[in-house]
Amino acid sequence: MSEAEMDGLSVVACERCPELVDCRSRIVNGVGPADADLLFVGEAPGQYEDEGGEPFVGRSGDVLDDGLRDAGLDRGDVRITNCVRCRPPDNRDPTDSELANCREYIETEIDRVDPEVVVTLGKVPAEHLLERDVAVTSEAGDVVEAEIGEGRRRVLVCVHPAATLYDPSQRDTFSSTLERAAEFTDETSGQSRLGDF
Ligand code: URA
Repeated sequence: MSEAEMDGLSVVACERCPELVDCRSRIVNGVGPADADLLFVGEAPGQYEDEGGEPFVGRSGDVLDDGLRDAGLDRGDVRITNCVRCRPPDNRDPTDSELANCREYIETEIDRVDPEVVVTLGKVPAEHLLERDVAVTSEAGDVVEAEIGEGRRRVLVCVHPAATLYDPSQRDTFSSTLERAAEFTDETSGQSRLGDF
């Protein structure tokens, strides 16, 4: 068997990170339309995601779903994925080598989905995709451009949904960033607001 195998947007086999292979119950691939206007990128699966096989289904997922709804968006209309597809032990941050091992998959997903904007949820995905230090709280809501995979992409920096649980002052920042994301959706796709960029 090859060391890694993708089927469309999904990784079906990968053994690149021995510690994660030991810890995971499954590989957690992205969910949502393959042609979504909005692609949300988190850090890595947690316990609930590892159990359910879907990104953002725990408490952070509830916050994300509520925020999307408040911004006039539906979870089913956006694509949601992670920088790293296997749960790190004790929910630690993924290491640089784990991020590097998984990079090919997120780049392939971004290239194939070709979204209007990539929304990074938290510091790890922002720094990984922008390849620089990011002060997420002060940069949240900014749209910046970056070379990712085969093209130049718009990236919207957003705080992690869980940050709003630990720090209620982040709620407005989170909501206004999702409002900004909604401006990039296409009327013809069933999502209601078309934004000019
Ligand atoms: N946090 C993340 O960054 N990703 C998930 O899938 C869940 C929580």
